[in-house]
Parts: sequence; structure tokens; C-alpha cells
Amino acid sequence: MTDMLSYVVPLLPETKPNHLLGIGDLPSIDQCIALGIDTFDSSHPTRCARHGLLFTKQGNVKILNSANKYCFEPIECDCTCLTCQKYTRAYIHHLFKAKEITAYSLASIHNLHFMVSLMQSYRHNILEGQI
Ligand SMILES: [Zn+2]
Repeated sequence: MTDMLSYVVPLLPETKPNHLLGIGDLPSIDQCIALGIDTFDSSHPTRCARHGLLFTKQGNVKILNSANKYCFEPIECDCTCLTCQKYTRAYIHHLFKAKEITAYSLASIHNLHFMVSLMQSYRHNILEGQI
């Protein structure tokens, strides 16, 4: 993918945004931004959320791991999403164990918020000339 993007992106008009469909994993986004991709869309964040894989700055959290059963902290302490503001890992762990549909919504809210924050960070770094 990166070889192909390295070839194709320089051929695209510089005055138009470059969109890449279907890329949503964090390492690929990092590579693609460096190659000149401006926007993405992918089901990756919500698909991971539905499977109990939650994104954090320290790496992914598998909410079904038993370590979360009695963890009364949010998914990520400094996250400002609704899920982290209102619910603990233990509660979300319970919802996943019970196959309660709210679990998938709360996990998706967190992962989408994480992605928006990540893209804001990339935007800031691009505007500051750091990328
Ligand atoms: Zn959150």
C-alpha cells in the first residue's frame, strides 16, 4: 500500500484533498498521512469497539479481559468522551459480558472520539509544520 501511495499521490492535483477509503488502523493512518493522504473513512474504530477492543494512547484495551472486571477507572483517564466521563471499565466489561447492546454503543463512542482527537492532533502537527 505505501509503495503504491508513494507512486500515486505525487500524481494527484495538489489543490484537491486526497481521500483514502477503508484505512482505519492507527499504524496505517500514520504512514498514509506522511504520504499525503488528507482524509479517511473506515469501519475499523466501530468494528473494534463492537468486539470490545478500545483505543487508548497507551495501546488497545481488551475490555473483556478479567483485569477490567473490577477496574473502576474510565477506559482512558484523560479522555473527554461521554463513555469515559460517565462509566467505568468494570461497568463496560459487565455490559459486554451480558451482551448488552449499550456496550457496543459506549465502546463506539469512545473509539470514535479517540479517532477524532487523533486526527485533530495530526491536523495541529501539519499546521505547525511538524509533518
Ligand atoms: Zn473515552
